[in-house]
Amino acid sequence: MKAGTKIVILGGGESGTGAAVLAKKKGYNVFVSDAGKINDKYKNVLSNFDINWEESSHSINKILAGKEIIKSPGISEDVEIIKSARNNKIPVISDIEFAGRYTGAKKICITGSNGKTTTAKIIFHILKKAGMDVCLAGNVGESFAWKLAERDYDYFVLEISSFQLDNMYKFKAEVAVLLNITTDHLDRYDDDFEKYCNSKFRIIQNQEYGDYFIFNADDKVITEKMKKINTNSLCLPFSQKNFYERGACIVNDKIRFKTNNEEFNMNIADLSLKGKHNIYNSMASGITARLFDIRKVIIKESLSDFKNVEHRLELVGTARGIEFFNDSKATNINSTWFALESMTKPVIWIVGGIDKGNDYSELLELVRKKVKAIICLGKDNRRIVEAFEEEVSTIIETKSAMDAVKSAYYLGNPGDAVLLSPACASFDLFENYEDRGNQFKQAVYDL
Ligand code: ADP
Repeated sequence: MKAGTKIVILGGGESGTGAAVLAKKKGYNVFVSDAGKINDKYKNVLSNFDINWEESSHSINKILAGKEIIKSPGISEDVEIIKSARNNKIPVISDIEFAGRYTGAKKICITGSNGKTTTAKIIFHILKKAGMDVCLAGNVGESFAWKLAERDYDYFVLEISSFQLDNMYKFKAEVAVLLNITTDHLDRYDDDFEKYCNSKFRIIQNQEYGDYFIFNADDKVITEKMKKINTNSLCLPFSQKNFYERGACIVNDKIRFKTNNEEFNMNIADLSLKGKHNIYNSMASGITARLFDIRKVIIKESLSDFKNVEHRLELVGTARGIEFFNDSKATNINSTWFALESMTKPVIWIVGGIDKGNDYSELLELVRKKVKAIICLGKDNRRIVEAFEEEVSTIIETKSAMDAVKSAYYLGNPGDAVLLSPACASFDLFENYEDRGNQFKQAVYDL
């Protein structure tokens, strides 16, 4: 596209502002439009870069004058402005697709229903420790485009959501990591799991010989889908159930990594992150690191000193012999399944919020085995009560993190664990999952 071409960015948050800054630097005529309010922080950046913007409405004419539209991942395909753009045959792309045009870096891209942030951060941690020129960006926090506007790197580790993948066409991941596919966000995919699954698989589109696809071979959705697709990239599985010559698997209670002729092993007990799900995340990360010939000692050290990410199965503290875990980021059944699975003590489980269509029966077996009491933390807890009233005799309903924590403390005995792992979104009672986690932590500190 020629310099001076009009490009429109929908959404003035982190990714939209990042894309705007990069587009401006590349000489485009940039216009940012947000149907809601734009945060002051981003307004200042846009003004400093002399970028035109509007908030609280979309000026249709100005938007449809764009030669291309960059859509923020939070905006659904169903909104009128996107439909109009499509009717007018204006290409709609994601910020990642746009930024991908301007880097010569190798891009290590992580997607999946759960574990993206954790895995992206572990991979970044290893590459950084190995002294590589690497940047962490994408859904994990800072915008890829923004980082790239500052400078290019040798490597980008990118967390990519399905909403971003949906508007990616020519972008290529030199290393693609697919952690798992379980039901989430179906509201954005017409309740069609197949559509969501196809979206996740876009992570390998355009891959060619010499590229790598690292995938969870224990995930049936992934393995079934792989039977139907062709890729020229080298596929490297990771599994806790079966042996694979290449990739990562468990042999004699150790993780065995093998990507070339050399293999190396690591004790599961030496991983800093606990829980089966984190074994998967560590496996995917270790394979990635071996692809870049990072020394085994560095990989081992990194996997054993990586600090857990806040709000992900985070041990907040112990009070009267009761441990308190904050897993506020668990907003679907699968992530909560892994949290419950990793618990080794009787659990008082804090659950609830906005239910995105959960099938609680998937948790029944673990709840039967591990949970002694349930504390609901949500406005409408009917589905949770119905699902578990036959299994758990104590079910309490609360409407604040403080009440939930106090009730748990009152019900608990030394040797128990209190687990906030809501399996639901947080917007009924909290601003977001961070707010929910922070209020929970504060309530624990206040005990
Ligand atoms: P994402 O970025 O995909 O939302 P996070 O790393 O932020 O993933 O973790 C979200 C939630 O999922 C947390 O509760 C975390 O403990 C859990 N989790 C992390 N990794 C996995 C995994 N591989 N499988 C299932 N759940 C996971």
